[in-house]
Amino acid sequence: MERLQKVIAQSGVASRRKSEELIREGHVKVNGKTVTEMGVKVVGSDTIEVRGVPITEESYVYYLFYKPRGVISAVSDDKGRKVVTDFMAGVPERIYPVGRLDYDTSGLLLLTNDGDFANKLTHPKHEVNKTYIAKVKGVPFPQDLKPLAKGINIEGRKTAPAEYNIISTDNVKKTSIVELVIHEGRNHQVKKMLEAVGYPVIKLKRELYGDLNLHGMKPGQYRSLSKREINALI
Ligand code: URA
Repeated sequence: MERLQKVIAQSGVASRRKSEELIREGHVKVNGKTVTEMGVKVVGSDTIEVRGVPITEESYVYYLFYKPRGVISAVSDDKGRKVVTDFMAGVPERIYPVGRLDYDTSGLLLLTNDGDFANKLTHPKHEVNKTYIAKVKGVPFPQDLKPLAKGINIEGRKTAPAEYNIISTDNVKKTSIVELVIHEGRNHQVKKMLEAVGYPVIKLKRELYGDLNLHGMKPGQYRSLSKREINALI
């Protein structure tokens, strides 16, 4: 559910303030009825008309972005650091990230202007697998990581069972590459999980989001998602 004026603004018809004006002045209909009060909430299936012209779902856009390290998963930053939308100047819609990757994490990030889609994907009950590749300090024995599969207590709450795989180890540098598949999206979750089993993360990348991957892409590049890819996620 989203506020009507936000949906109108996101469709690109008008700015947020102008959208409020359009509503107040009686130019907006929801499911055929004129709405003039603020704060009305709408869902994706509602029909919204502005001056008799429907806003369709077509105005929603969905992008896959290969986030480089050293970039904030936000659309602005008060400290002037680089943000994800700095790389997407060619996108006119007001998009924002679906969830977050840490500043120092690279990898696959989705961006959209579809609030329902973003909420659905970030809801804890929505189980899309996210696959991370972590470089960790230390060389784990397979049994060291077993608690990850059962779920471990982080800040008083148990994580859902995760899949893991030791991809490689470097006995000289005493580092390893570990793949971890989780479907939750708690703050710094991968780092906290690996730290909790004794293998702190040195470097982290999100490789897959569901079946979506970064094949053929370089950090900083983006592409739009097909209808089929979008539908596979929700
Ligand atoms: N887990 C983390 O610790 N960091 C991320 O950026 C994503 C998942």
